[in-house]
Amino acid sequence: MNTILQHDLNDLENILEKAKQQGIDFLNNLENIPTSNTNRIDPKRNLNELGLGSEKALKEFNERLAPLLVSSPGPRYWGFVTGGSTPASIVGDWLATVYDQNAQSINSQGGNSALIEFETINLLLQLLELPDSFLGGFVTGATMSNFTNLAVARQWFGKQLGKDFAKNGISETINILTATPHSSSIKSLSMLGIGSQNYTVVKTIEGNREAIDIADLELKIKELNGKPFILISSAGTVNTADFDDFEAISNLKEKYNFWWHIDAAFGGFAAVSEKYKHFVKGWENADSITIDCHKWLNVPYESAFYLIKKDHVNLQIETFQNSNAPYLGNPLENFNYLNVLPENSRRLRALPVWFSLVAYGKEGFCDIIEKSISLALHFGNALIEEGSFELLAPIRLNNVCFTLKGDENQDKVGEFLAKLNDTGTVFMTPTFYQNRKGIRASFVNWRTTEEDIKIVLEEMKQLI
Ligand SMILES: *Cc1c(COP(=O)(O)O)cnc(C)c1O
Repeated sequence: MNTILQHDLNDLENILEKAKQQGIDFLNNLENIPTSNTNRIDPKRNLNELGLGSEKALKEFNERLAPLLVSSPGPRYWGFVTGGSTPASIVGDWLATVYDQNAQSINSQGGNSALIEFETINLLLQLLELPDSFLGGFVTGATMSNFTNLAVARQWFGKQLGKDFAKNGISETINILTATPHSSSIKSLSMLGIGSQNYTVVKTIEGNREAIDIADLELKIKELNGKPFILISSAGTVNTADFDDFEAISNLKEKYNFWWHIDAAFGGFAAVSEKYKHFVKGWENADSITIDCHKWLNVPYESAFYLIKKDHVNLQIETFQNSNAPYLGNPLENFNYLNVLPENSRRLRALPVWFSLVAYGKEGFCDIIEKSISLALHFGNALIEEGSFELLAPIRLNNVCFTLKGDENQDKVGEFLAKLNDTGTVFMTPTFYQNRKGIRASFVNWRTTEEDIKIVLEEMKQLI
């Protein structure tokens, strides 16, 4: 063994203790760490001939890199849809690294890690009140979850025409209908060889809505003359957190032959609250669902899962099977994750979620969800009261989409947001909604309080 490695091994306890202390210092100081940083490193460091050892590497990290990292798990990072990490989720994430399992088969090597993943998916189904007719697994994010789900949908589509796209490639035009798809679904269409432009846009409901217009959907279905199609629907659009009508879509599913996919990256967590679960009523009838954990479940990156109906497991295996050998026996009994999703080797990504759900239970998450929504409403009301802002859409859930009041101020929106983000007090995302420039604040972090909203409003008033 290299002497430096040997030294690190002998010094393991001290090194991990220092890393732990560093983590504690960062987490305890989150509120004071800026949400943005304009300093940039020159990323051209030379590789040492002789290693420094972990302790000195940590020292260099501390001096050069750590000061540039932003408070994205902190309470005022409202850009994109960014969750933080709860204590239990950090424990799970650290231990997933330490135990370093390869979560694949439920039988031989890594056997119990795949079963821990099964158990975690099962806990999630209980949290979201979804039936166990879904089979799920963990991937890095909602983008990869959409990719996985739509890959199986693609295989399903081929089957309807007697083709095996996984084996022979795509030989038919795949019909896709959608109203307000997330950009990651479009990216998935590109990655899947379907083509990022090859989908039909269905109208949204009249008025200030991003949800699909069911009448127009049915019209577009009829234009397909009985051909199969894939429907990409939304449980929570990013700008205005709008939901498609899943009961109406369930009814259409009785009449027409289609694969129903729901992107519920963050909006799916509406199911956790008695007050908001009506938004997802009927979603259990979907063929596949995408949900992110590194957003509203507040676990560290990278964590999301897909859900696909067990009935489709053979299509899933045809899509992702790791060898050309025919599958032996019952795919559910000889289950191996490497045959049902993109990755082969994979970490025990379920563990942070397992810890979170066991530690905080249904009530803990219901609390986070309802608190986030009430903070969004509070922020929206405060913006209106302030007088210089207007909402671009009603606040349905946890996202606030707003702009500077008056069309004459449209040119100032970008500059205002840039200045606000540069303060490092808060971070929000620019957006474009119904032909107007806007700003989006998304409430997902378990640490955010009313005090944070007060701090941000003060900062906004200074800049207006
Ligand atoms: C965030 C988001 C995604 C993409 O998720 P990643 O975790 O960033 O890959 C997809 N769909 C919706 C609705 C989202 O909000």
